Amino acid sequence: MTFNSIEFKYRTFLAQQGKLFTQERATILHFVLSRKDHFSTDELLFYMQKKGIDVSRATLYRNLKSLVDAQILVEVDFGHGHTHYECIAVRKPHDHLICHSCKTVIEVQSKSLQKVIQAMTNSQNFHLDHYQLQIYGLCKKCAEKENKISKVATNPRQKKL
Ligand SMILES: [Zn+2]
Ligand SMILES: [Zn+2]
Ligand SMILES: [Zn+2]
Repeated sequence: MTFNSIEFKYRTFLAQQGKLFTQERATILHFVLSRKDHFSTDELLFYMQKKGIDVSRATLYRNLKSLVDAQILVEVDFGHGHTHYECIAVRKPHDHLICHSCKTVIEVQSKSLQKVIQAMTNSQNFHLDHYQLQIYGLCKKCAEKENKISKVATNPRQKKL
């Protein structure tokens, strides 16, 4: 979707709710669409303030919620204790590998998985808007670290045997 068509979608959504597309909403939409990756409210707030935009956290939070309702953003949970957002209007479908140790998030794409999901939803006559898988585990670095730790921990026991 282009910037103009996203803006049109948002304007239409707001009009249906009797709300106006204010300058503030336009600014927030602009910043949201400039993000190429996922972001939390605080990350976006910090970024906007750095660019000299005076916006409160509560206002930003409300606007992000409204963009989710308008199906321009999706909420994603990385198990960080705060919500992340991603712009489905501009991003290609992808899934997330989430390391629960260092909190790293790796984006992955699988054409064959997309085909399976499509076939699954088709068979139920279910209209698919979007999907996203959150896959939890340990990244390469953390898995190697944990391996080292467990080797050290098991050594003393081995000596006793
Ligand atoms: Zn986070
Ligand atoms: Zn990790
Ligand atoms: Zn992502």
